[in-house]
Amino acid sequence: MIQPGEVSESTWLVAGGRPAGEGRPLNHPIVPASNFSPGGAHWYARSDGTETVDALEALTGGLERGTVVAFASGMAAAAAVLERVPVGGDVVLPVDCYHGVVGLVADGVEAGRWALHRVAAGGDWLGALDADLVWLESPSNPLLEEVDVASICAAPRRGMVAVDATFLTPLRVRPLDLGADVVIHSATKFIGGHSDLVLGLAGARDERLIEHLRRVRSLHGAAPGALEAFLALRGIRTLEVRLDRMEHNAALLAGRLAGHRAVTRVRYPGRGAVLSFELAGGDEAADRACDLVRLVVHATSLGGVETTMERRSGYASSGHLPPGLVRMSVGIEDVDDLWRDLDTALGG
Ligand SMILES: *Cc1c(COP(=O)(O)O)cnc(C)c1O
Repeated sequence: MIQPGEVSESTWLVAGGRPAGEGRPLNHPIVPASNFSPGGAHWYARSDGTETVDALEALTGGLERGTVVAFASGMAAAAAVLERVPVGGDVVLPVDCYHGVVGLVADGVEAGRWALHRVAAGGDWLGALDADLVWLESPSNPLLEEVDVASICAAPRRGMVAVDATFLTPLRVRPLDLGADVVIHSATKFIGGHSDLVLGLAGARDERLIEHLRRVRSLHGAAPGALEAFLALRGIRTLEVRLDRMEHNAALLAGRLAGHRAVTRVRYPGRGAVLSFELAGGDEAADRACDLVRLVVHATSLGGVETTMERRSGYASSGHLPPGLVRMSVGIEDVDDLWRDLDTALGG
């Protein structure tokens, strides 16, 4: 069987996580079993997964050069990391951060479990490393702000550094290599890539942390389903070709949007497929553009083959967002078709 270090990651995406042995199918089957007879690798699916989940963990663990534990969703993976913070501990989140993670930490604060500190992307991250958990999201959702993950992880710290790498995927950033303790992905997004599943991944190298993740997954009942694991495996095989095309389209659209008279600012970090832009006409113009697109899908979420856009207003944690902001996840369509649709929705 091919091992992860033996081939490039482009090849590993295709060759990893395959069944070994003569006469086996090319793909791991969807194993819809809750329990197994004794003597094999599995006993009960909530606790130790199934063959399908193992295959996804093996493939993604090879990409991250660590051990990956698959969860029922990105939020389940994030919650398992937060479970590691002791009662009375400190959690640091970016000012611009995925709203679900902000809500989860805020609930813990309200219950008296933790204290929360927020740091802006350009703020004093090194000064925050005294916390029990420092959560990084780079580029952030939805403002696409970046922090220097490598230099933050290189500085001495007291607690854990977790990186939500959903926007860049394991192909564009490897936080464990940069020194982070744990990497999180919402595989619902680019890894699955077809807007047809919900699944999360948490990767680590420290054995005690990996044990913690597995224990929380089992005891909190956060194991992924076999169908979702199969779909994530099926999706990740084409991640690189999808991402290359999406980035190509995103860079072109970012440039064209920057030259559009209705647009006052474009936020695109130059990699990844998510961008945001702000409209001169404010919230009303942004709402109208979302209503008027016909090819671009007006919907939440991101990372699918189809281009989606939405306002990120309306969440409890979205008070810091500038007026007229639209977030767009760029898909693999013909970029000229996308541009015609967008240009029309923006009033030409
Ligand atoms: C979607 C998302 C999550 C949550 O993942 P789910 O799979 O929806 O639970 C976490 N972080 C980021 C950056 C996301 O985009």
